[in-house]
Amino acid sequence: MSTFGITPIDAKIDWDALTRYAIEVKDRSHVPGGAPRTGAAGLVDDGRVVLGCFVEHPTSALSLCAESGVVSALHGTGGGKLVALVVVDESGQPTMPCENCTYRLSEHGAPEVLSPG
Ligand SMILES: [Zn+2]
Repeated sequence: MSTFGITPIDAKIDWDALTRYAIEVKDRSHVPGGAPRTGAAGLVDDGRVVLGCFVEHPTSALSLCAESGVVSALHGTGGGKLVALVVVDESGQPTMPCENCTYRLSEHGAPEVLSPG
């Protein structure tokens, strides 16, 4: 059923669309202090897409990562498991989640952060 090394779940993931969602929500980041904006879009195992944007706080440790927003949106909109996640940086390029969020995401299904291409 799967050929060319593409697993069935990969075949269903529209990475370009997830990246577009991540860029769109990145632009909604709350950055009153001018911190770099980030956005994240996660695909849920039931097909939903959940989004998160960066929310800056003057004390940087209290800022809310875009990826954390995805976890909250996941459960706030019905739960499930993340099967794919795209995080984009200020320039809209895919990037890795922060270390804390990597641990956080591991509890909610996202097996890895994959970038298109
Ligand atoms: Zn984070």
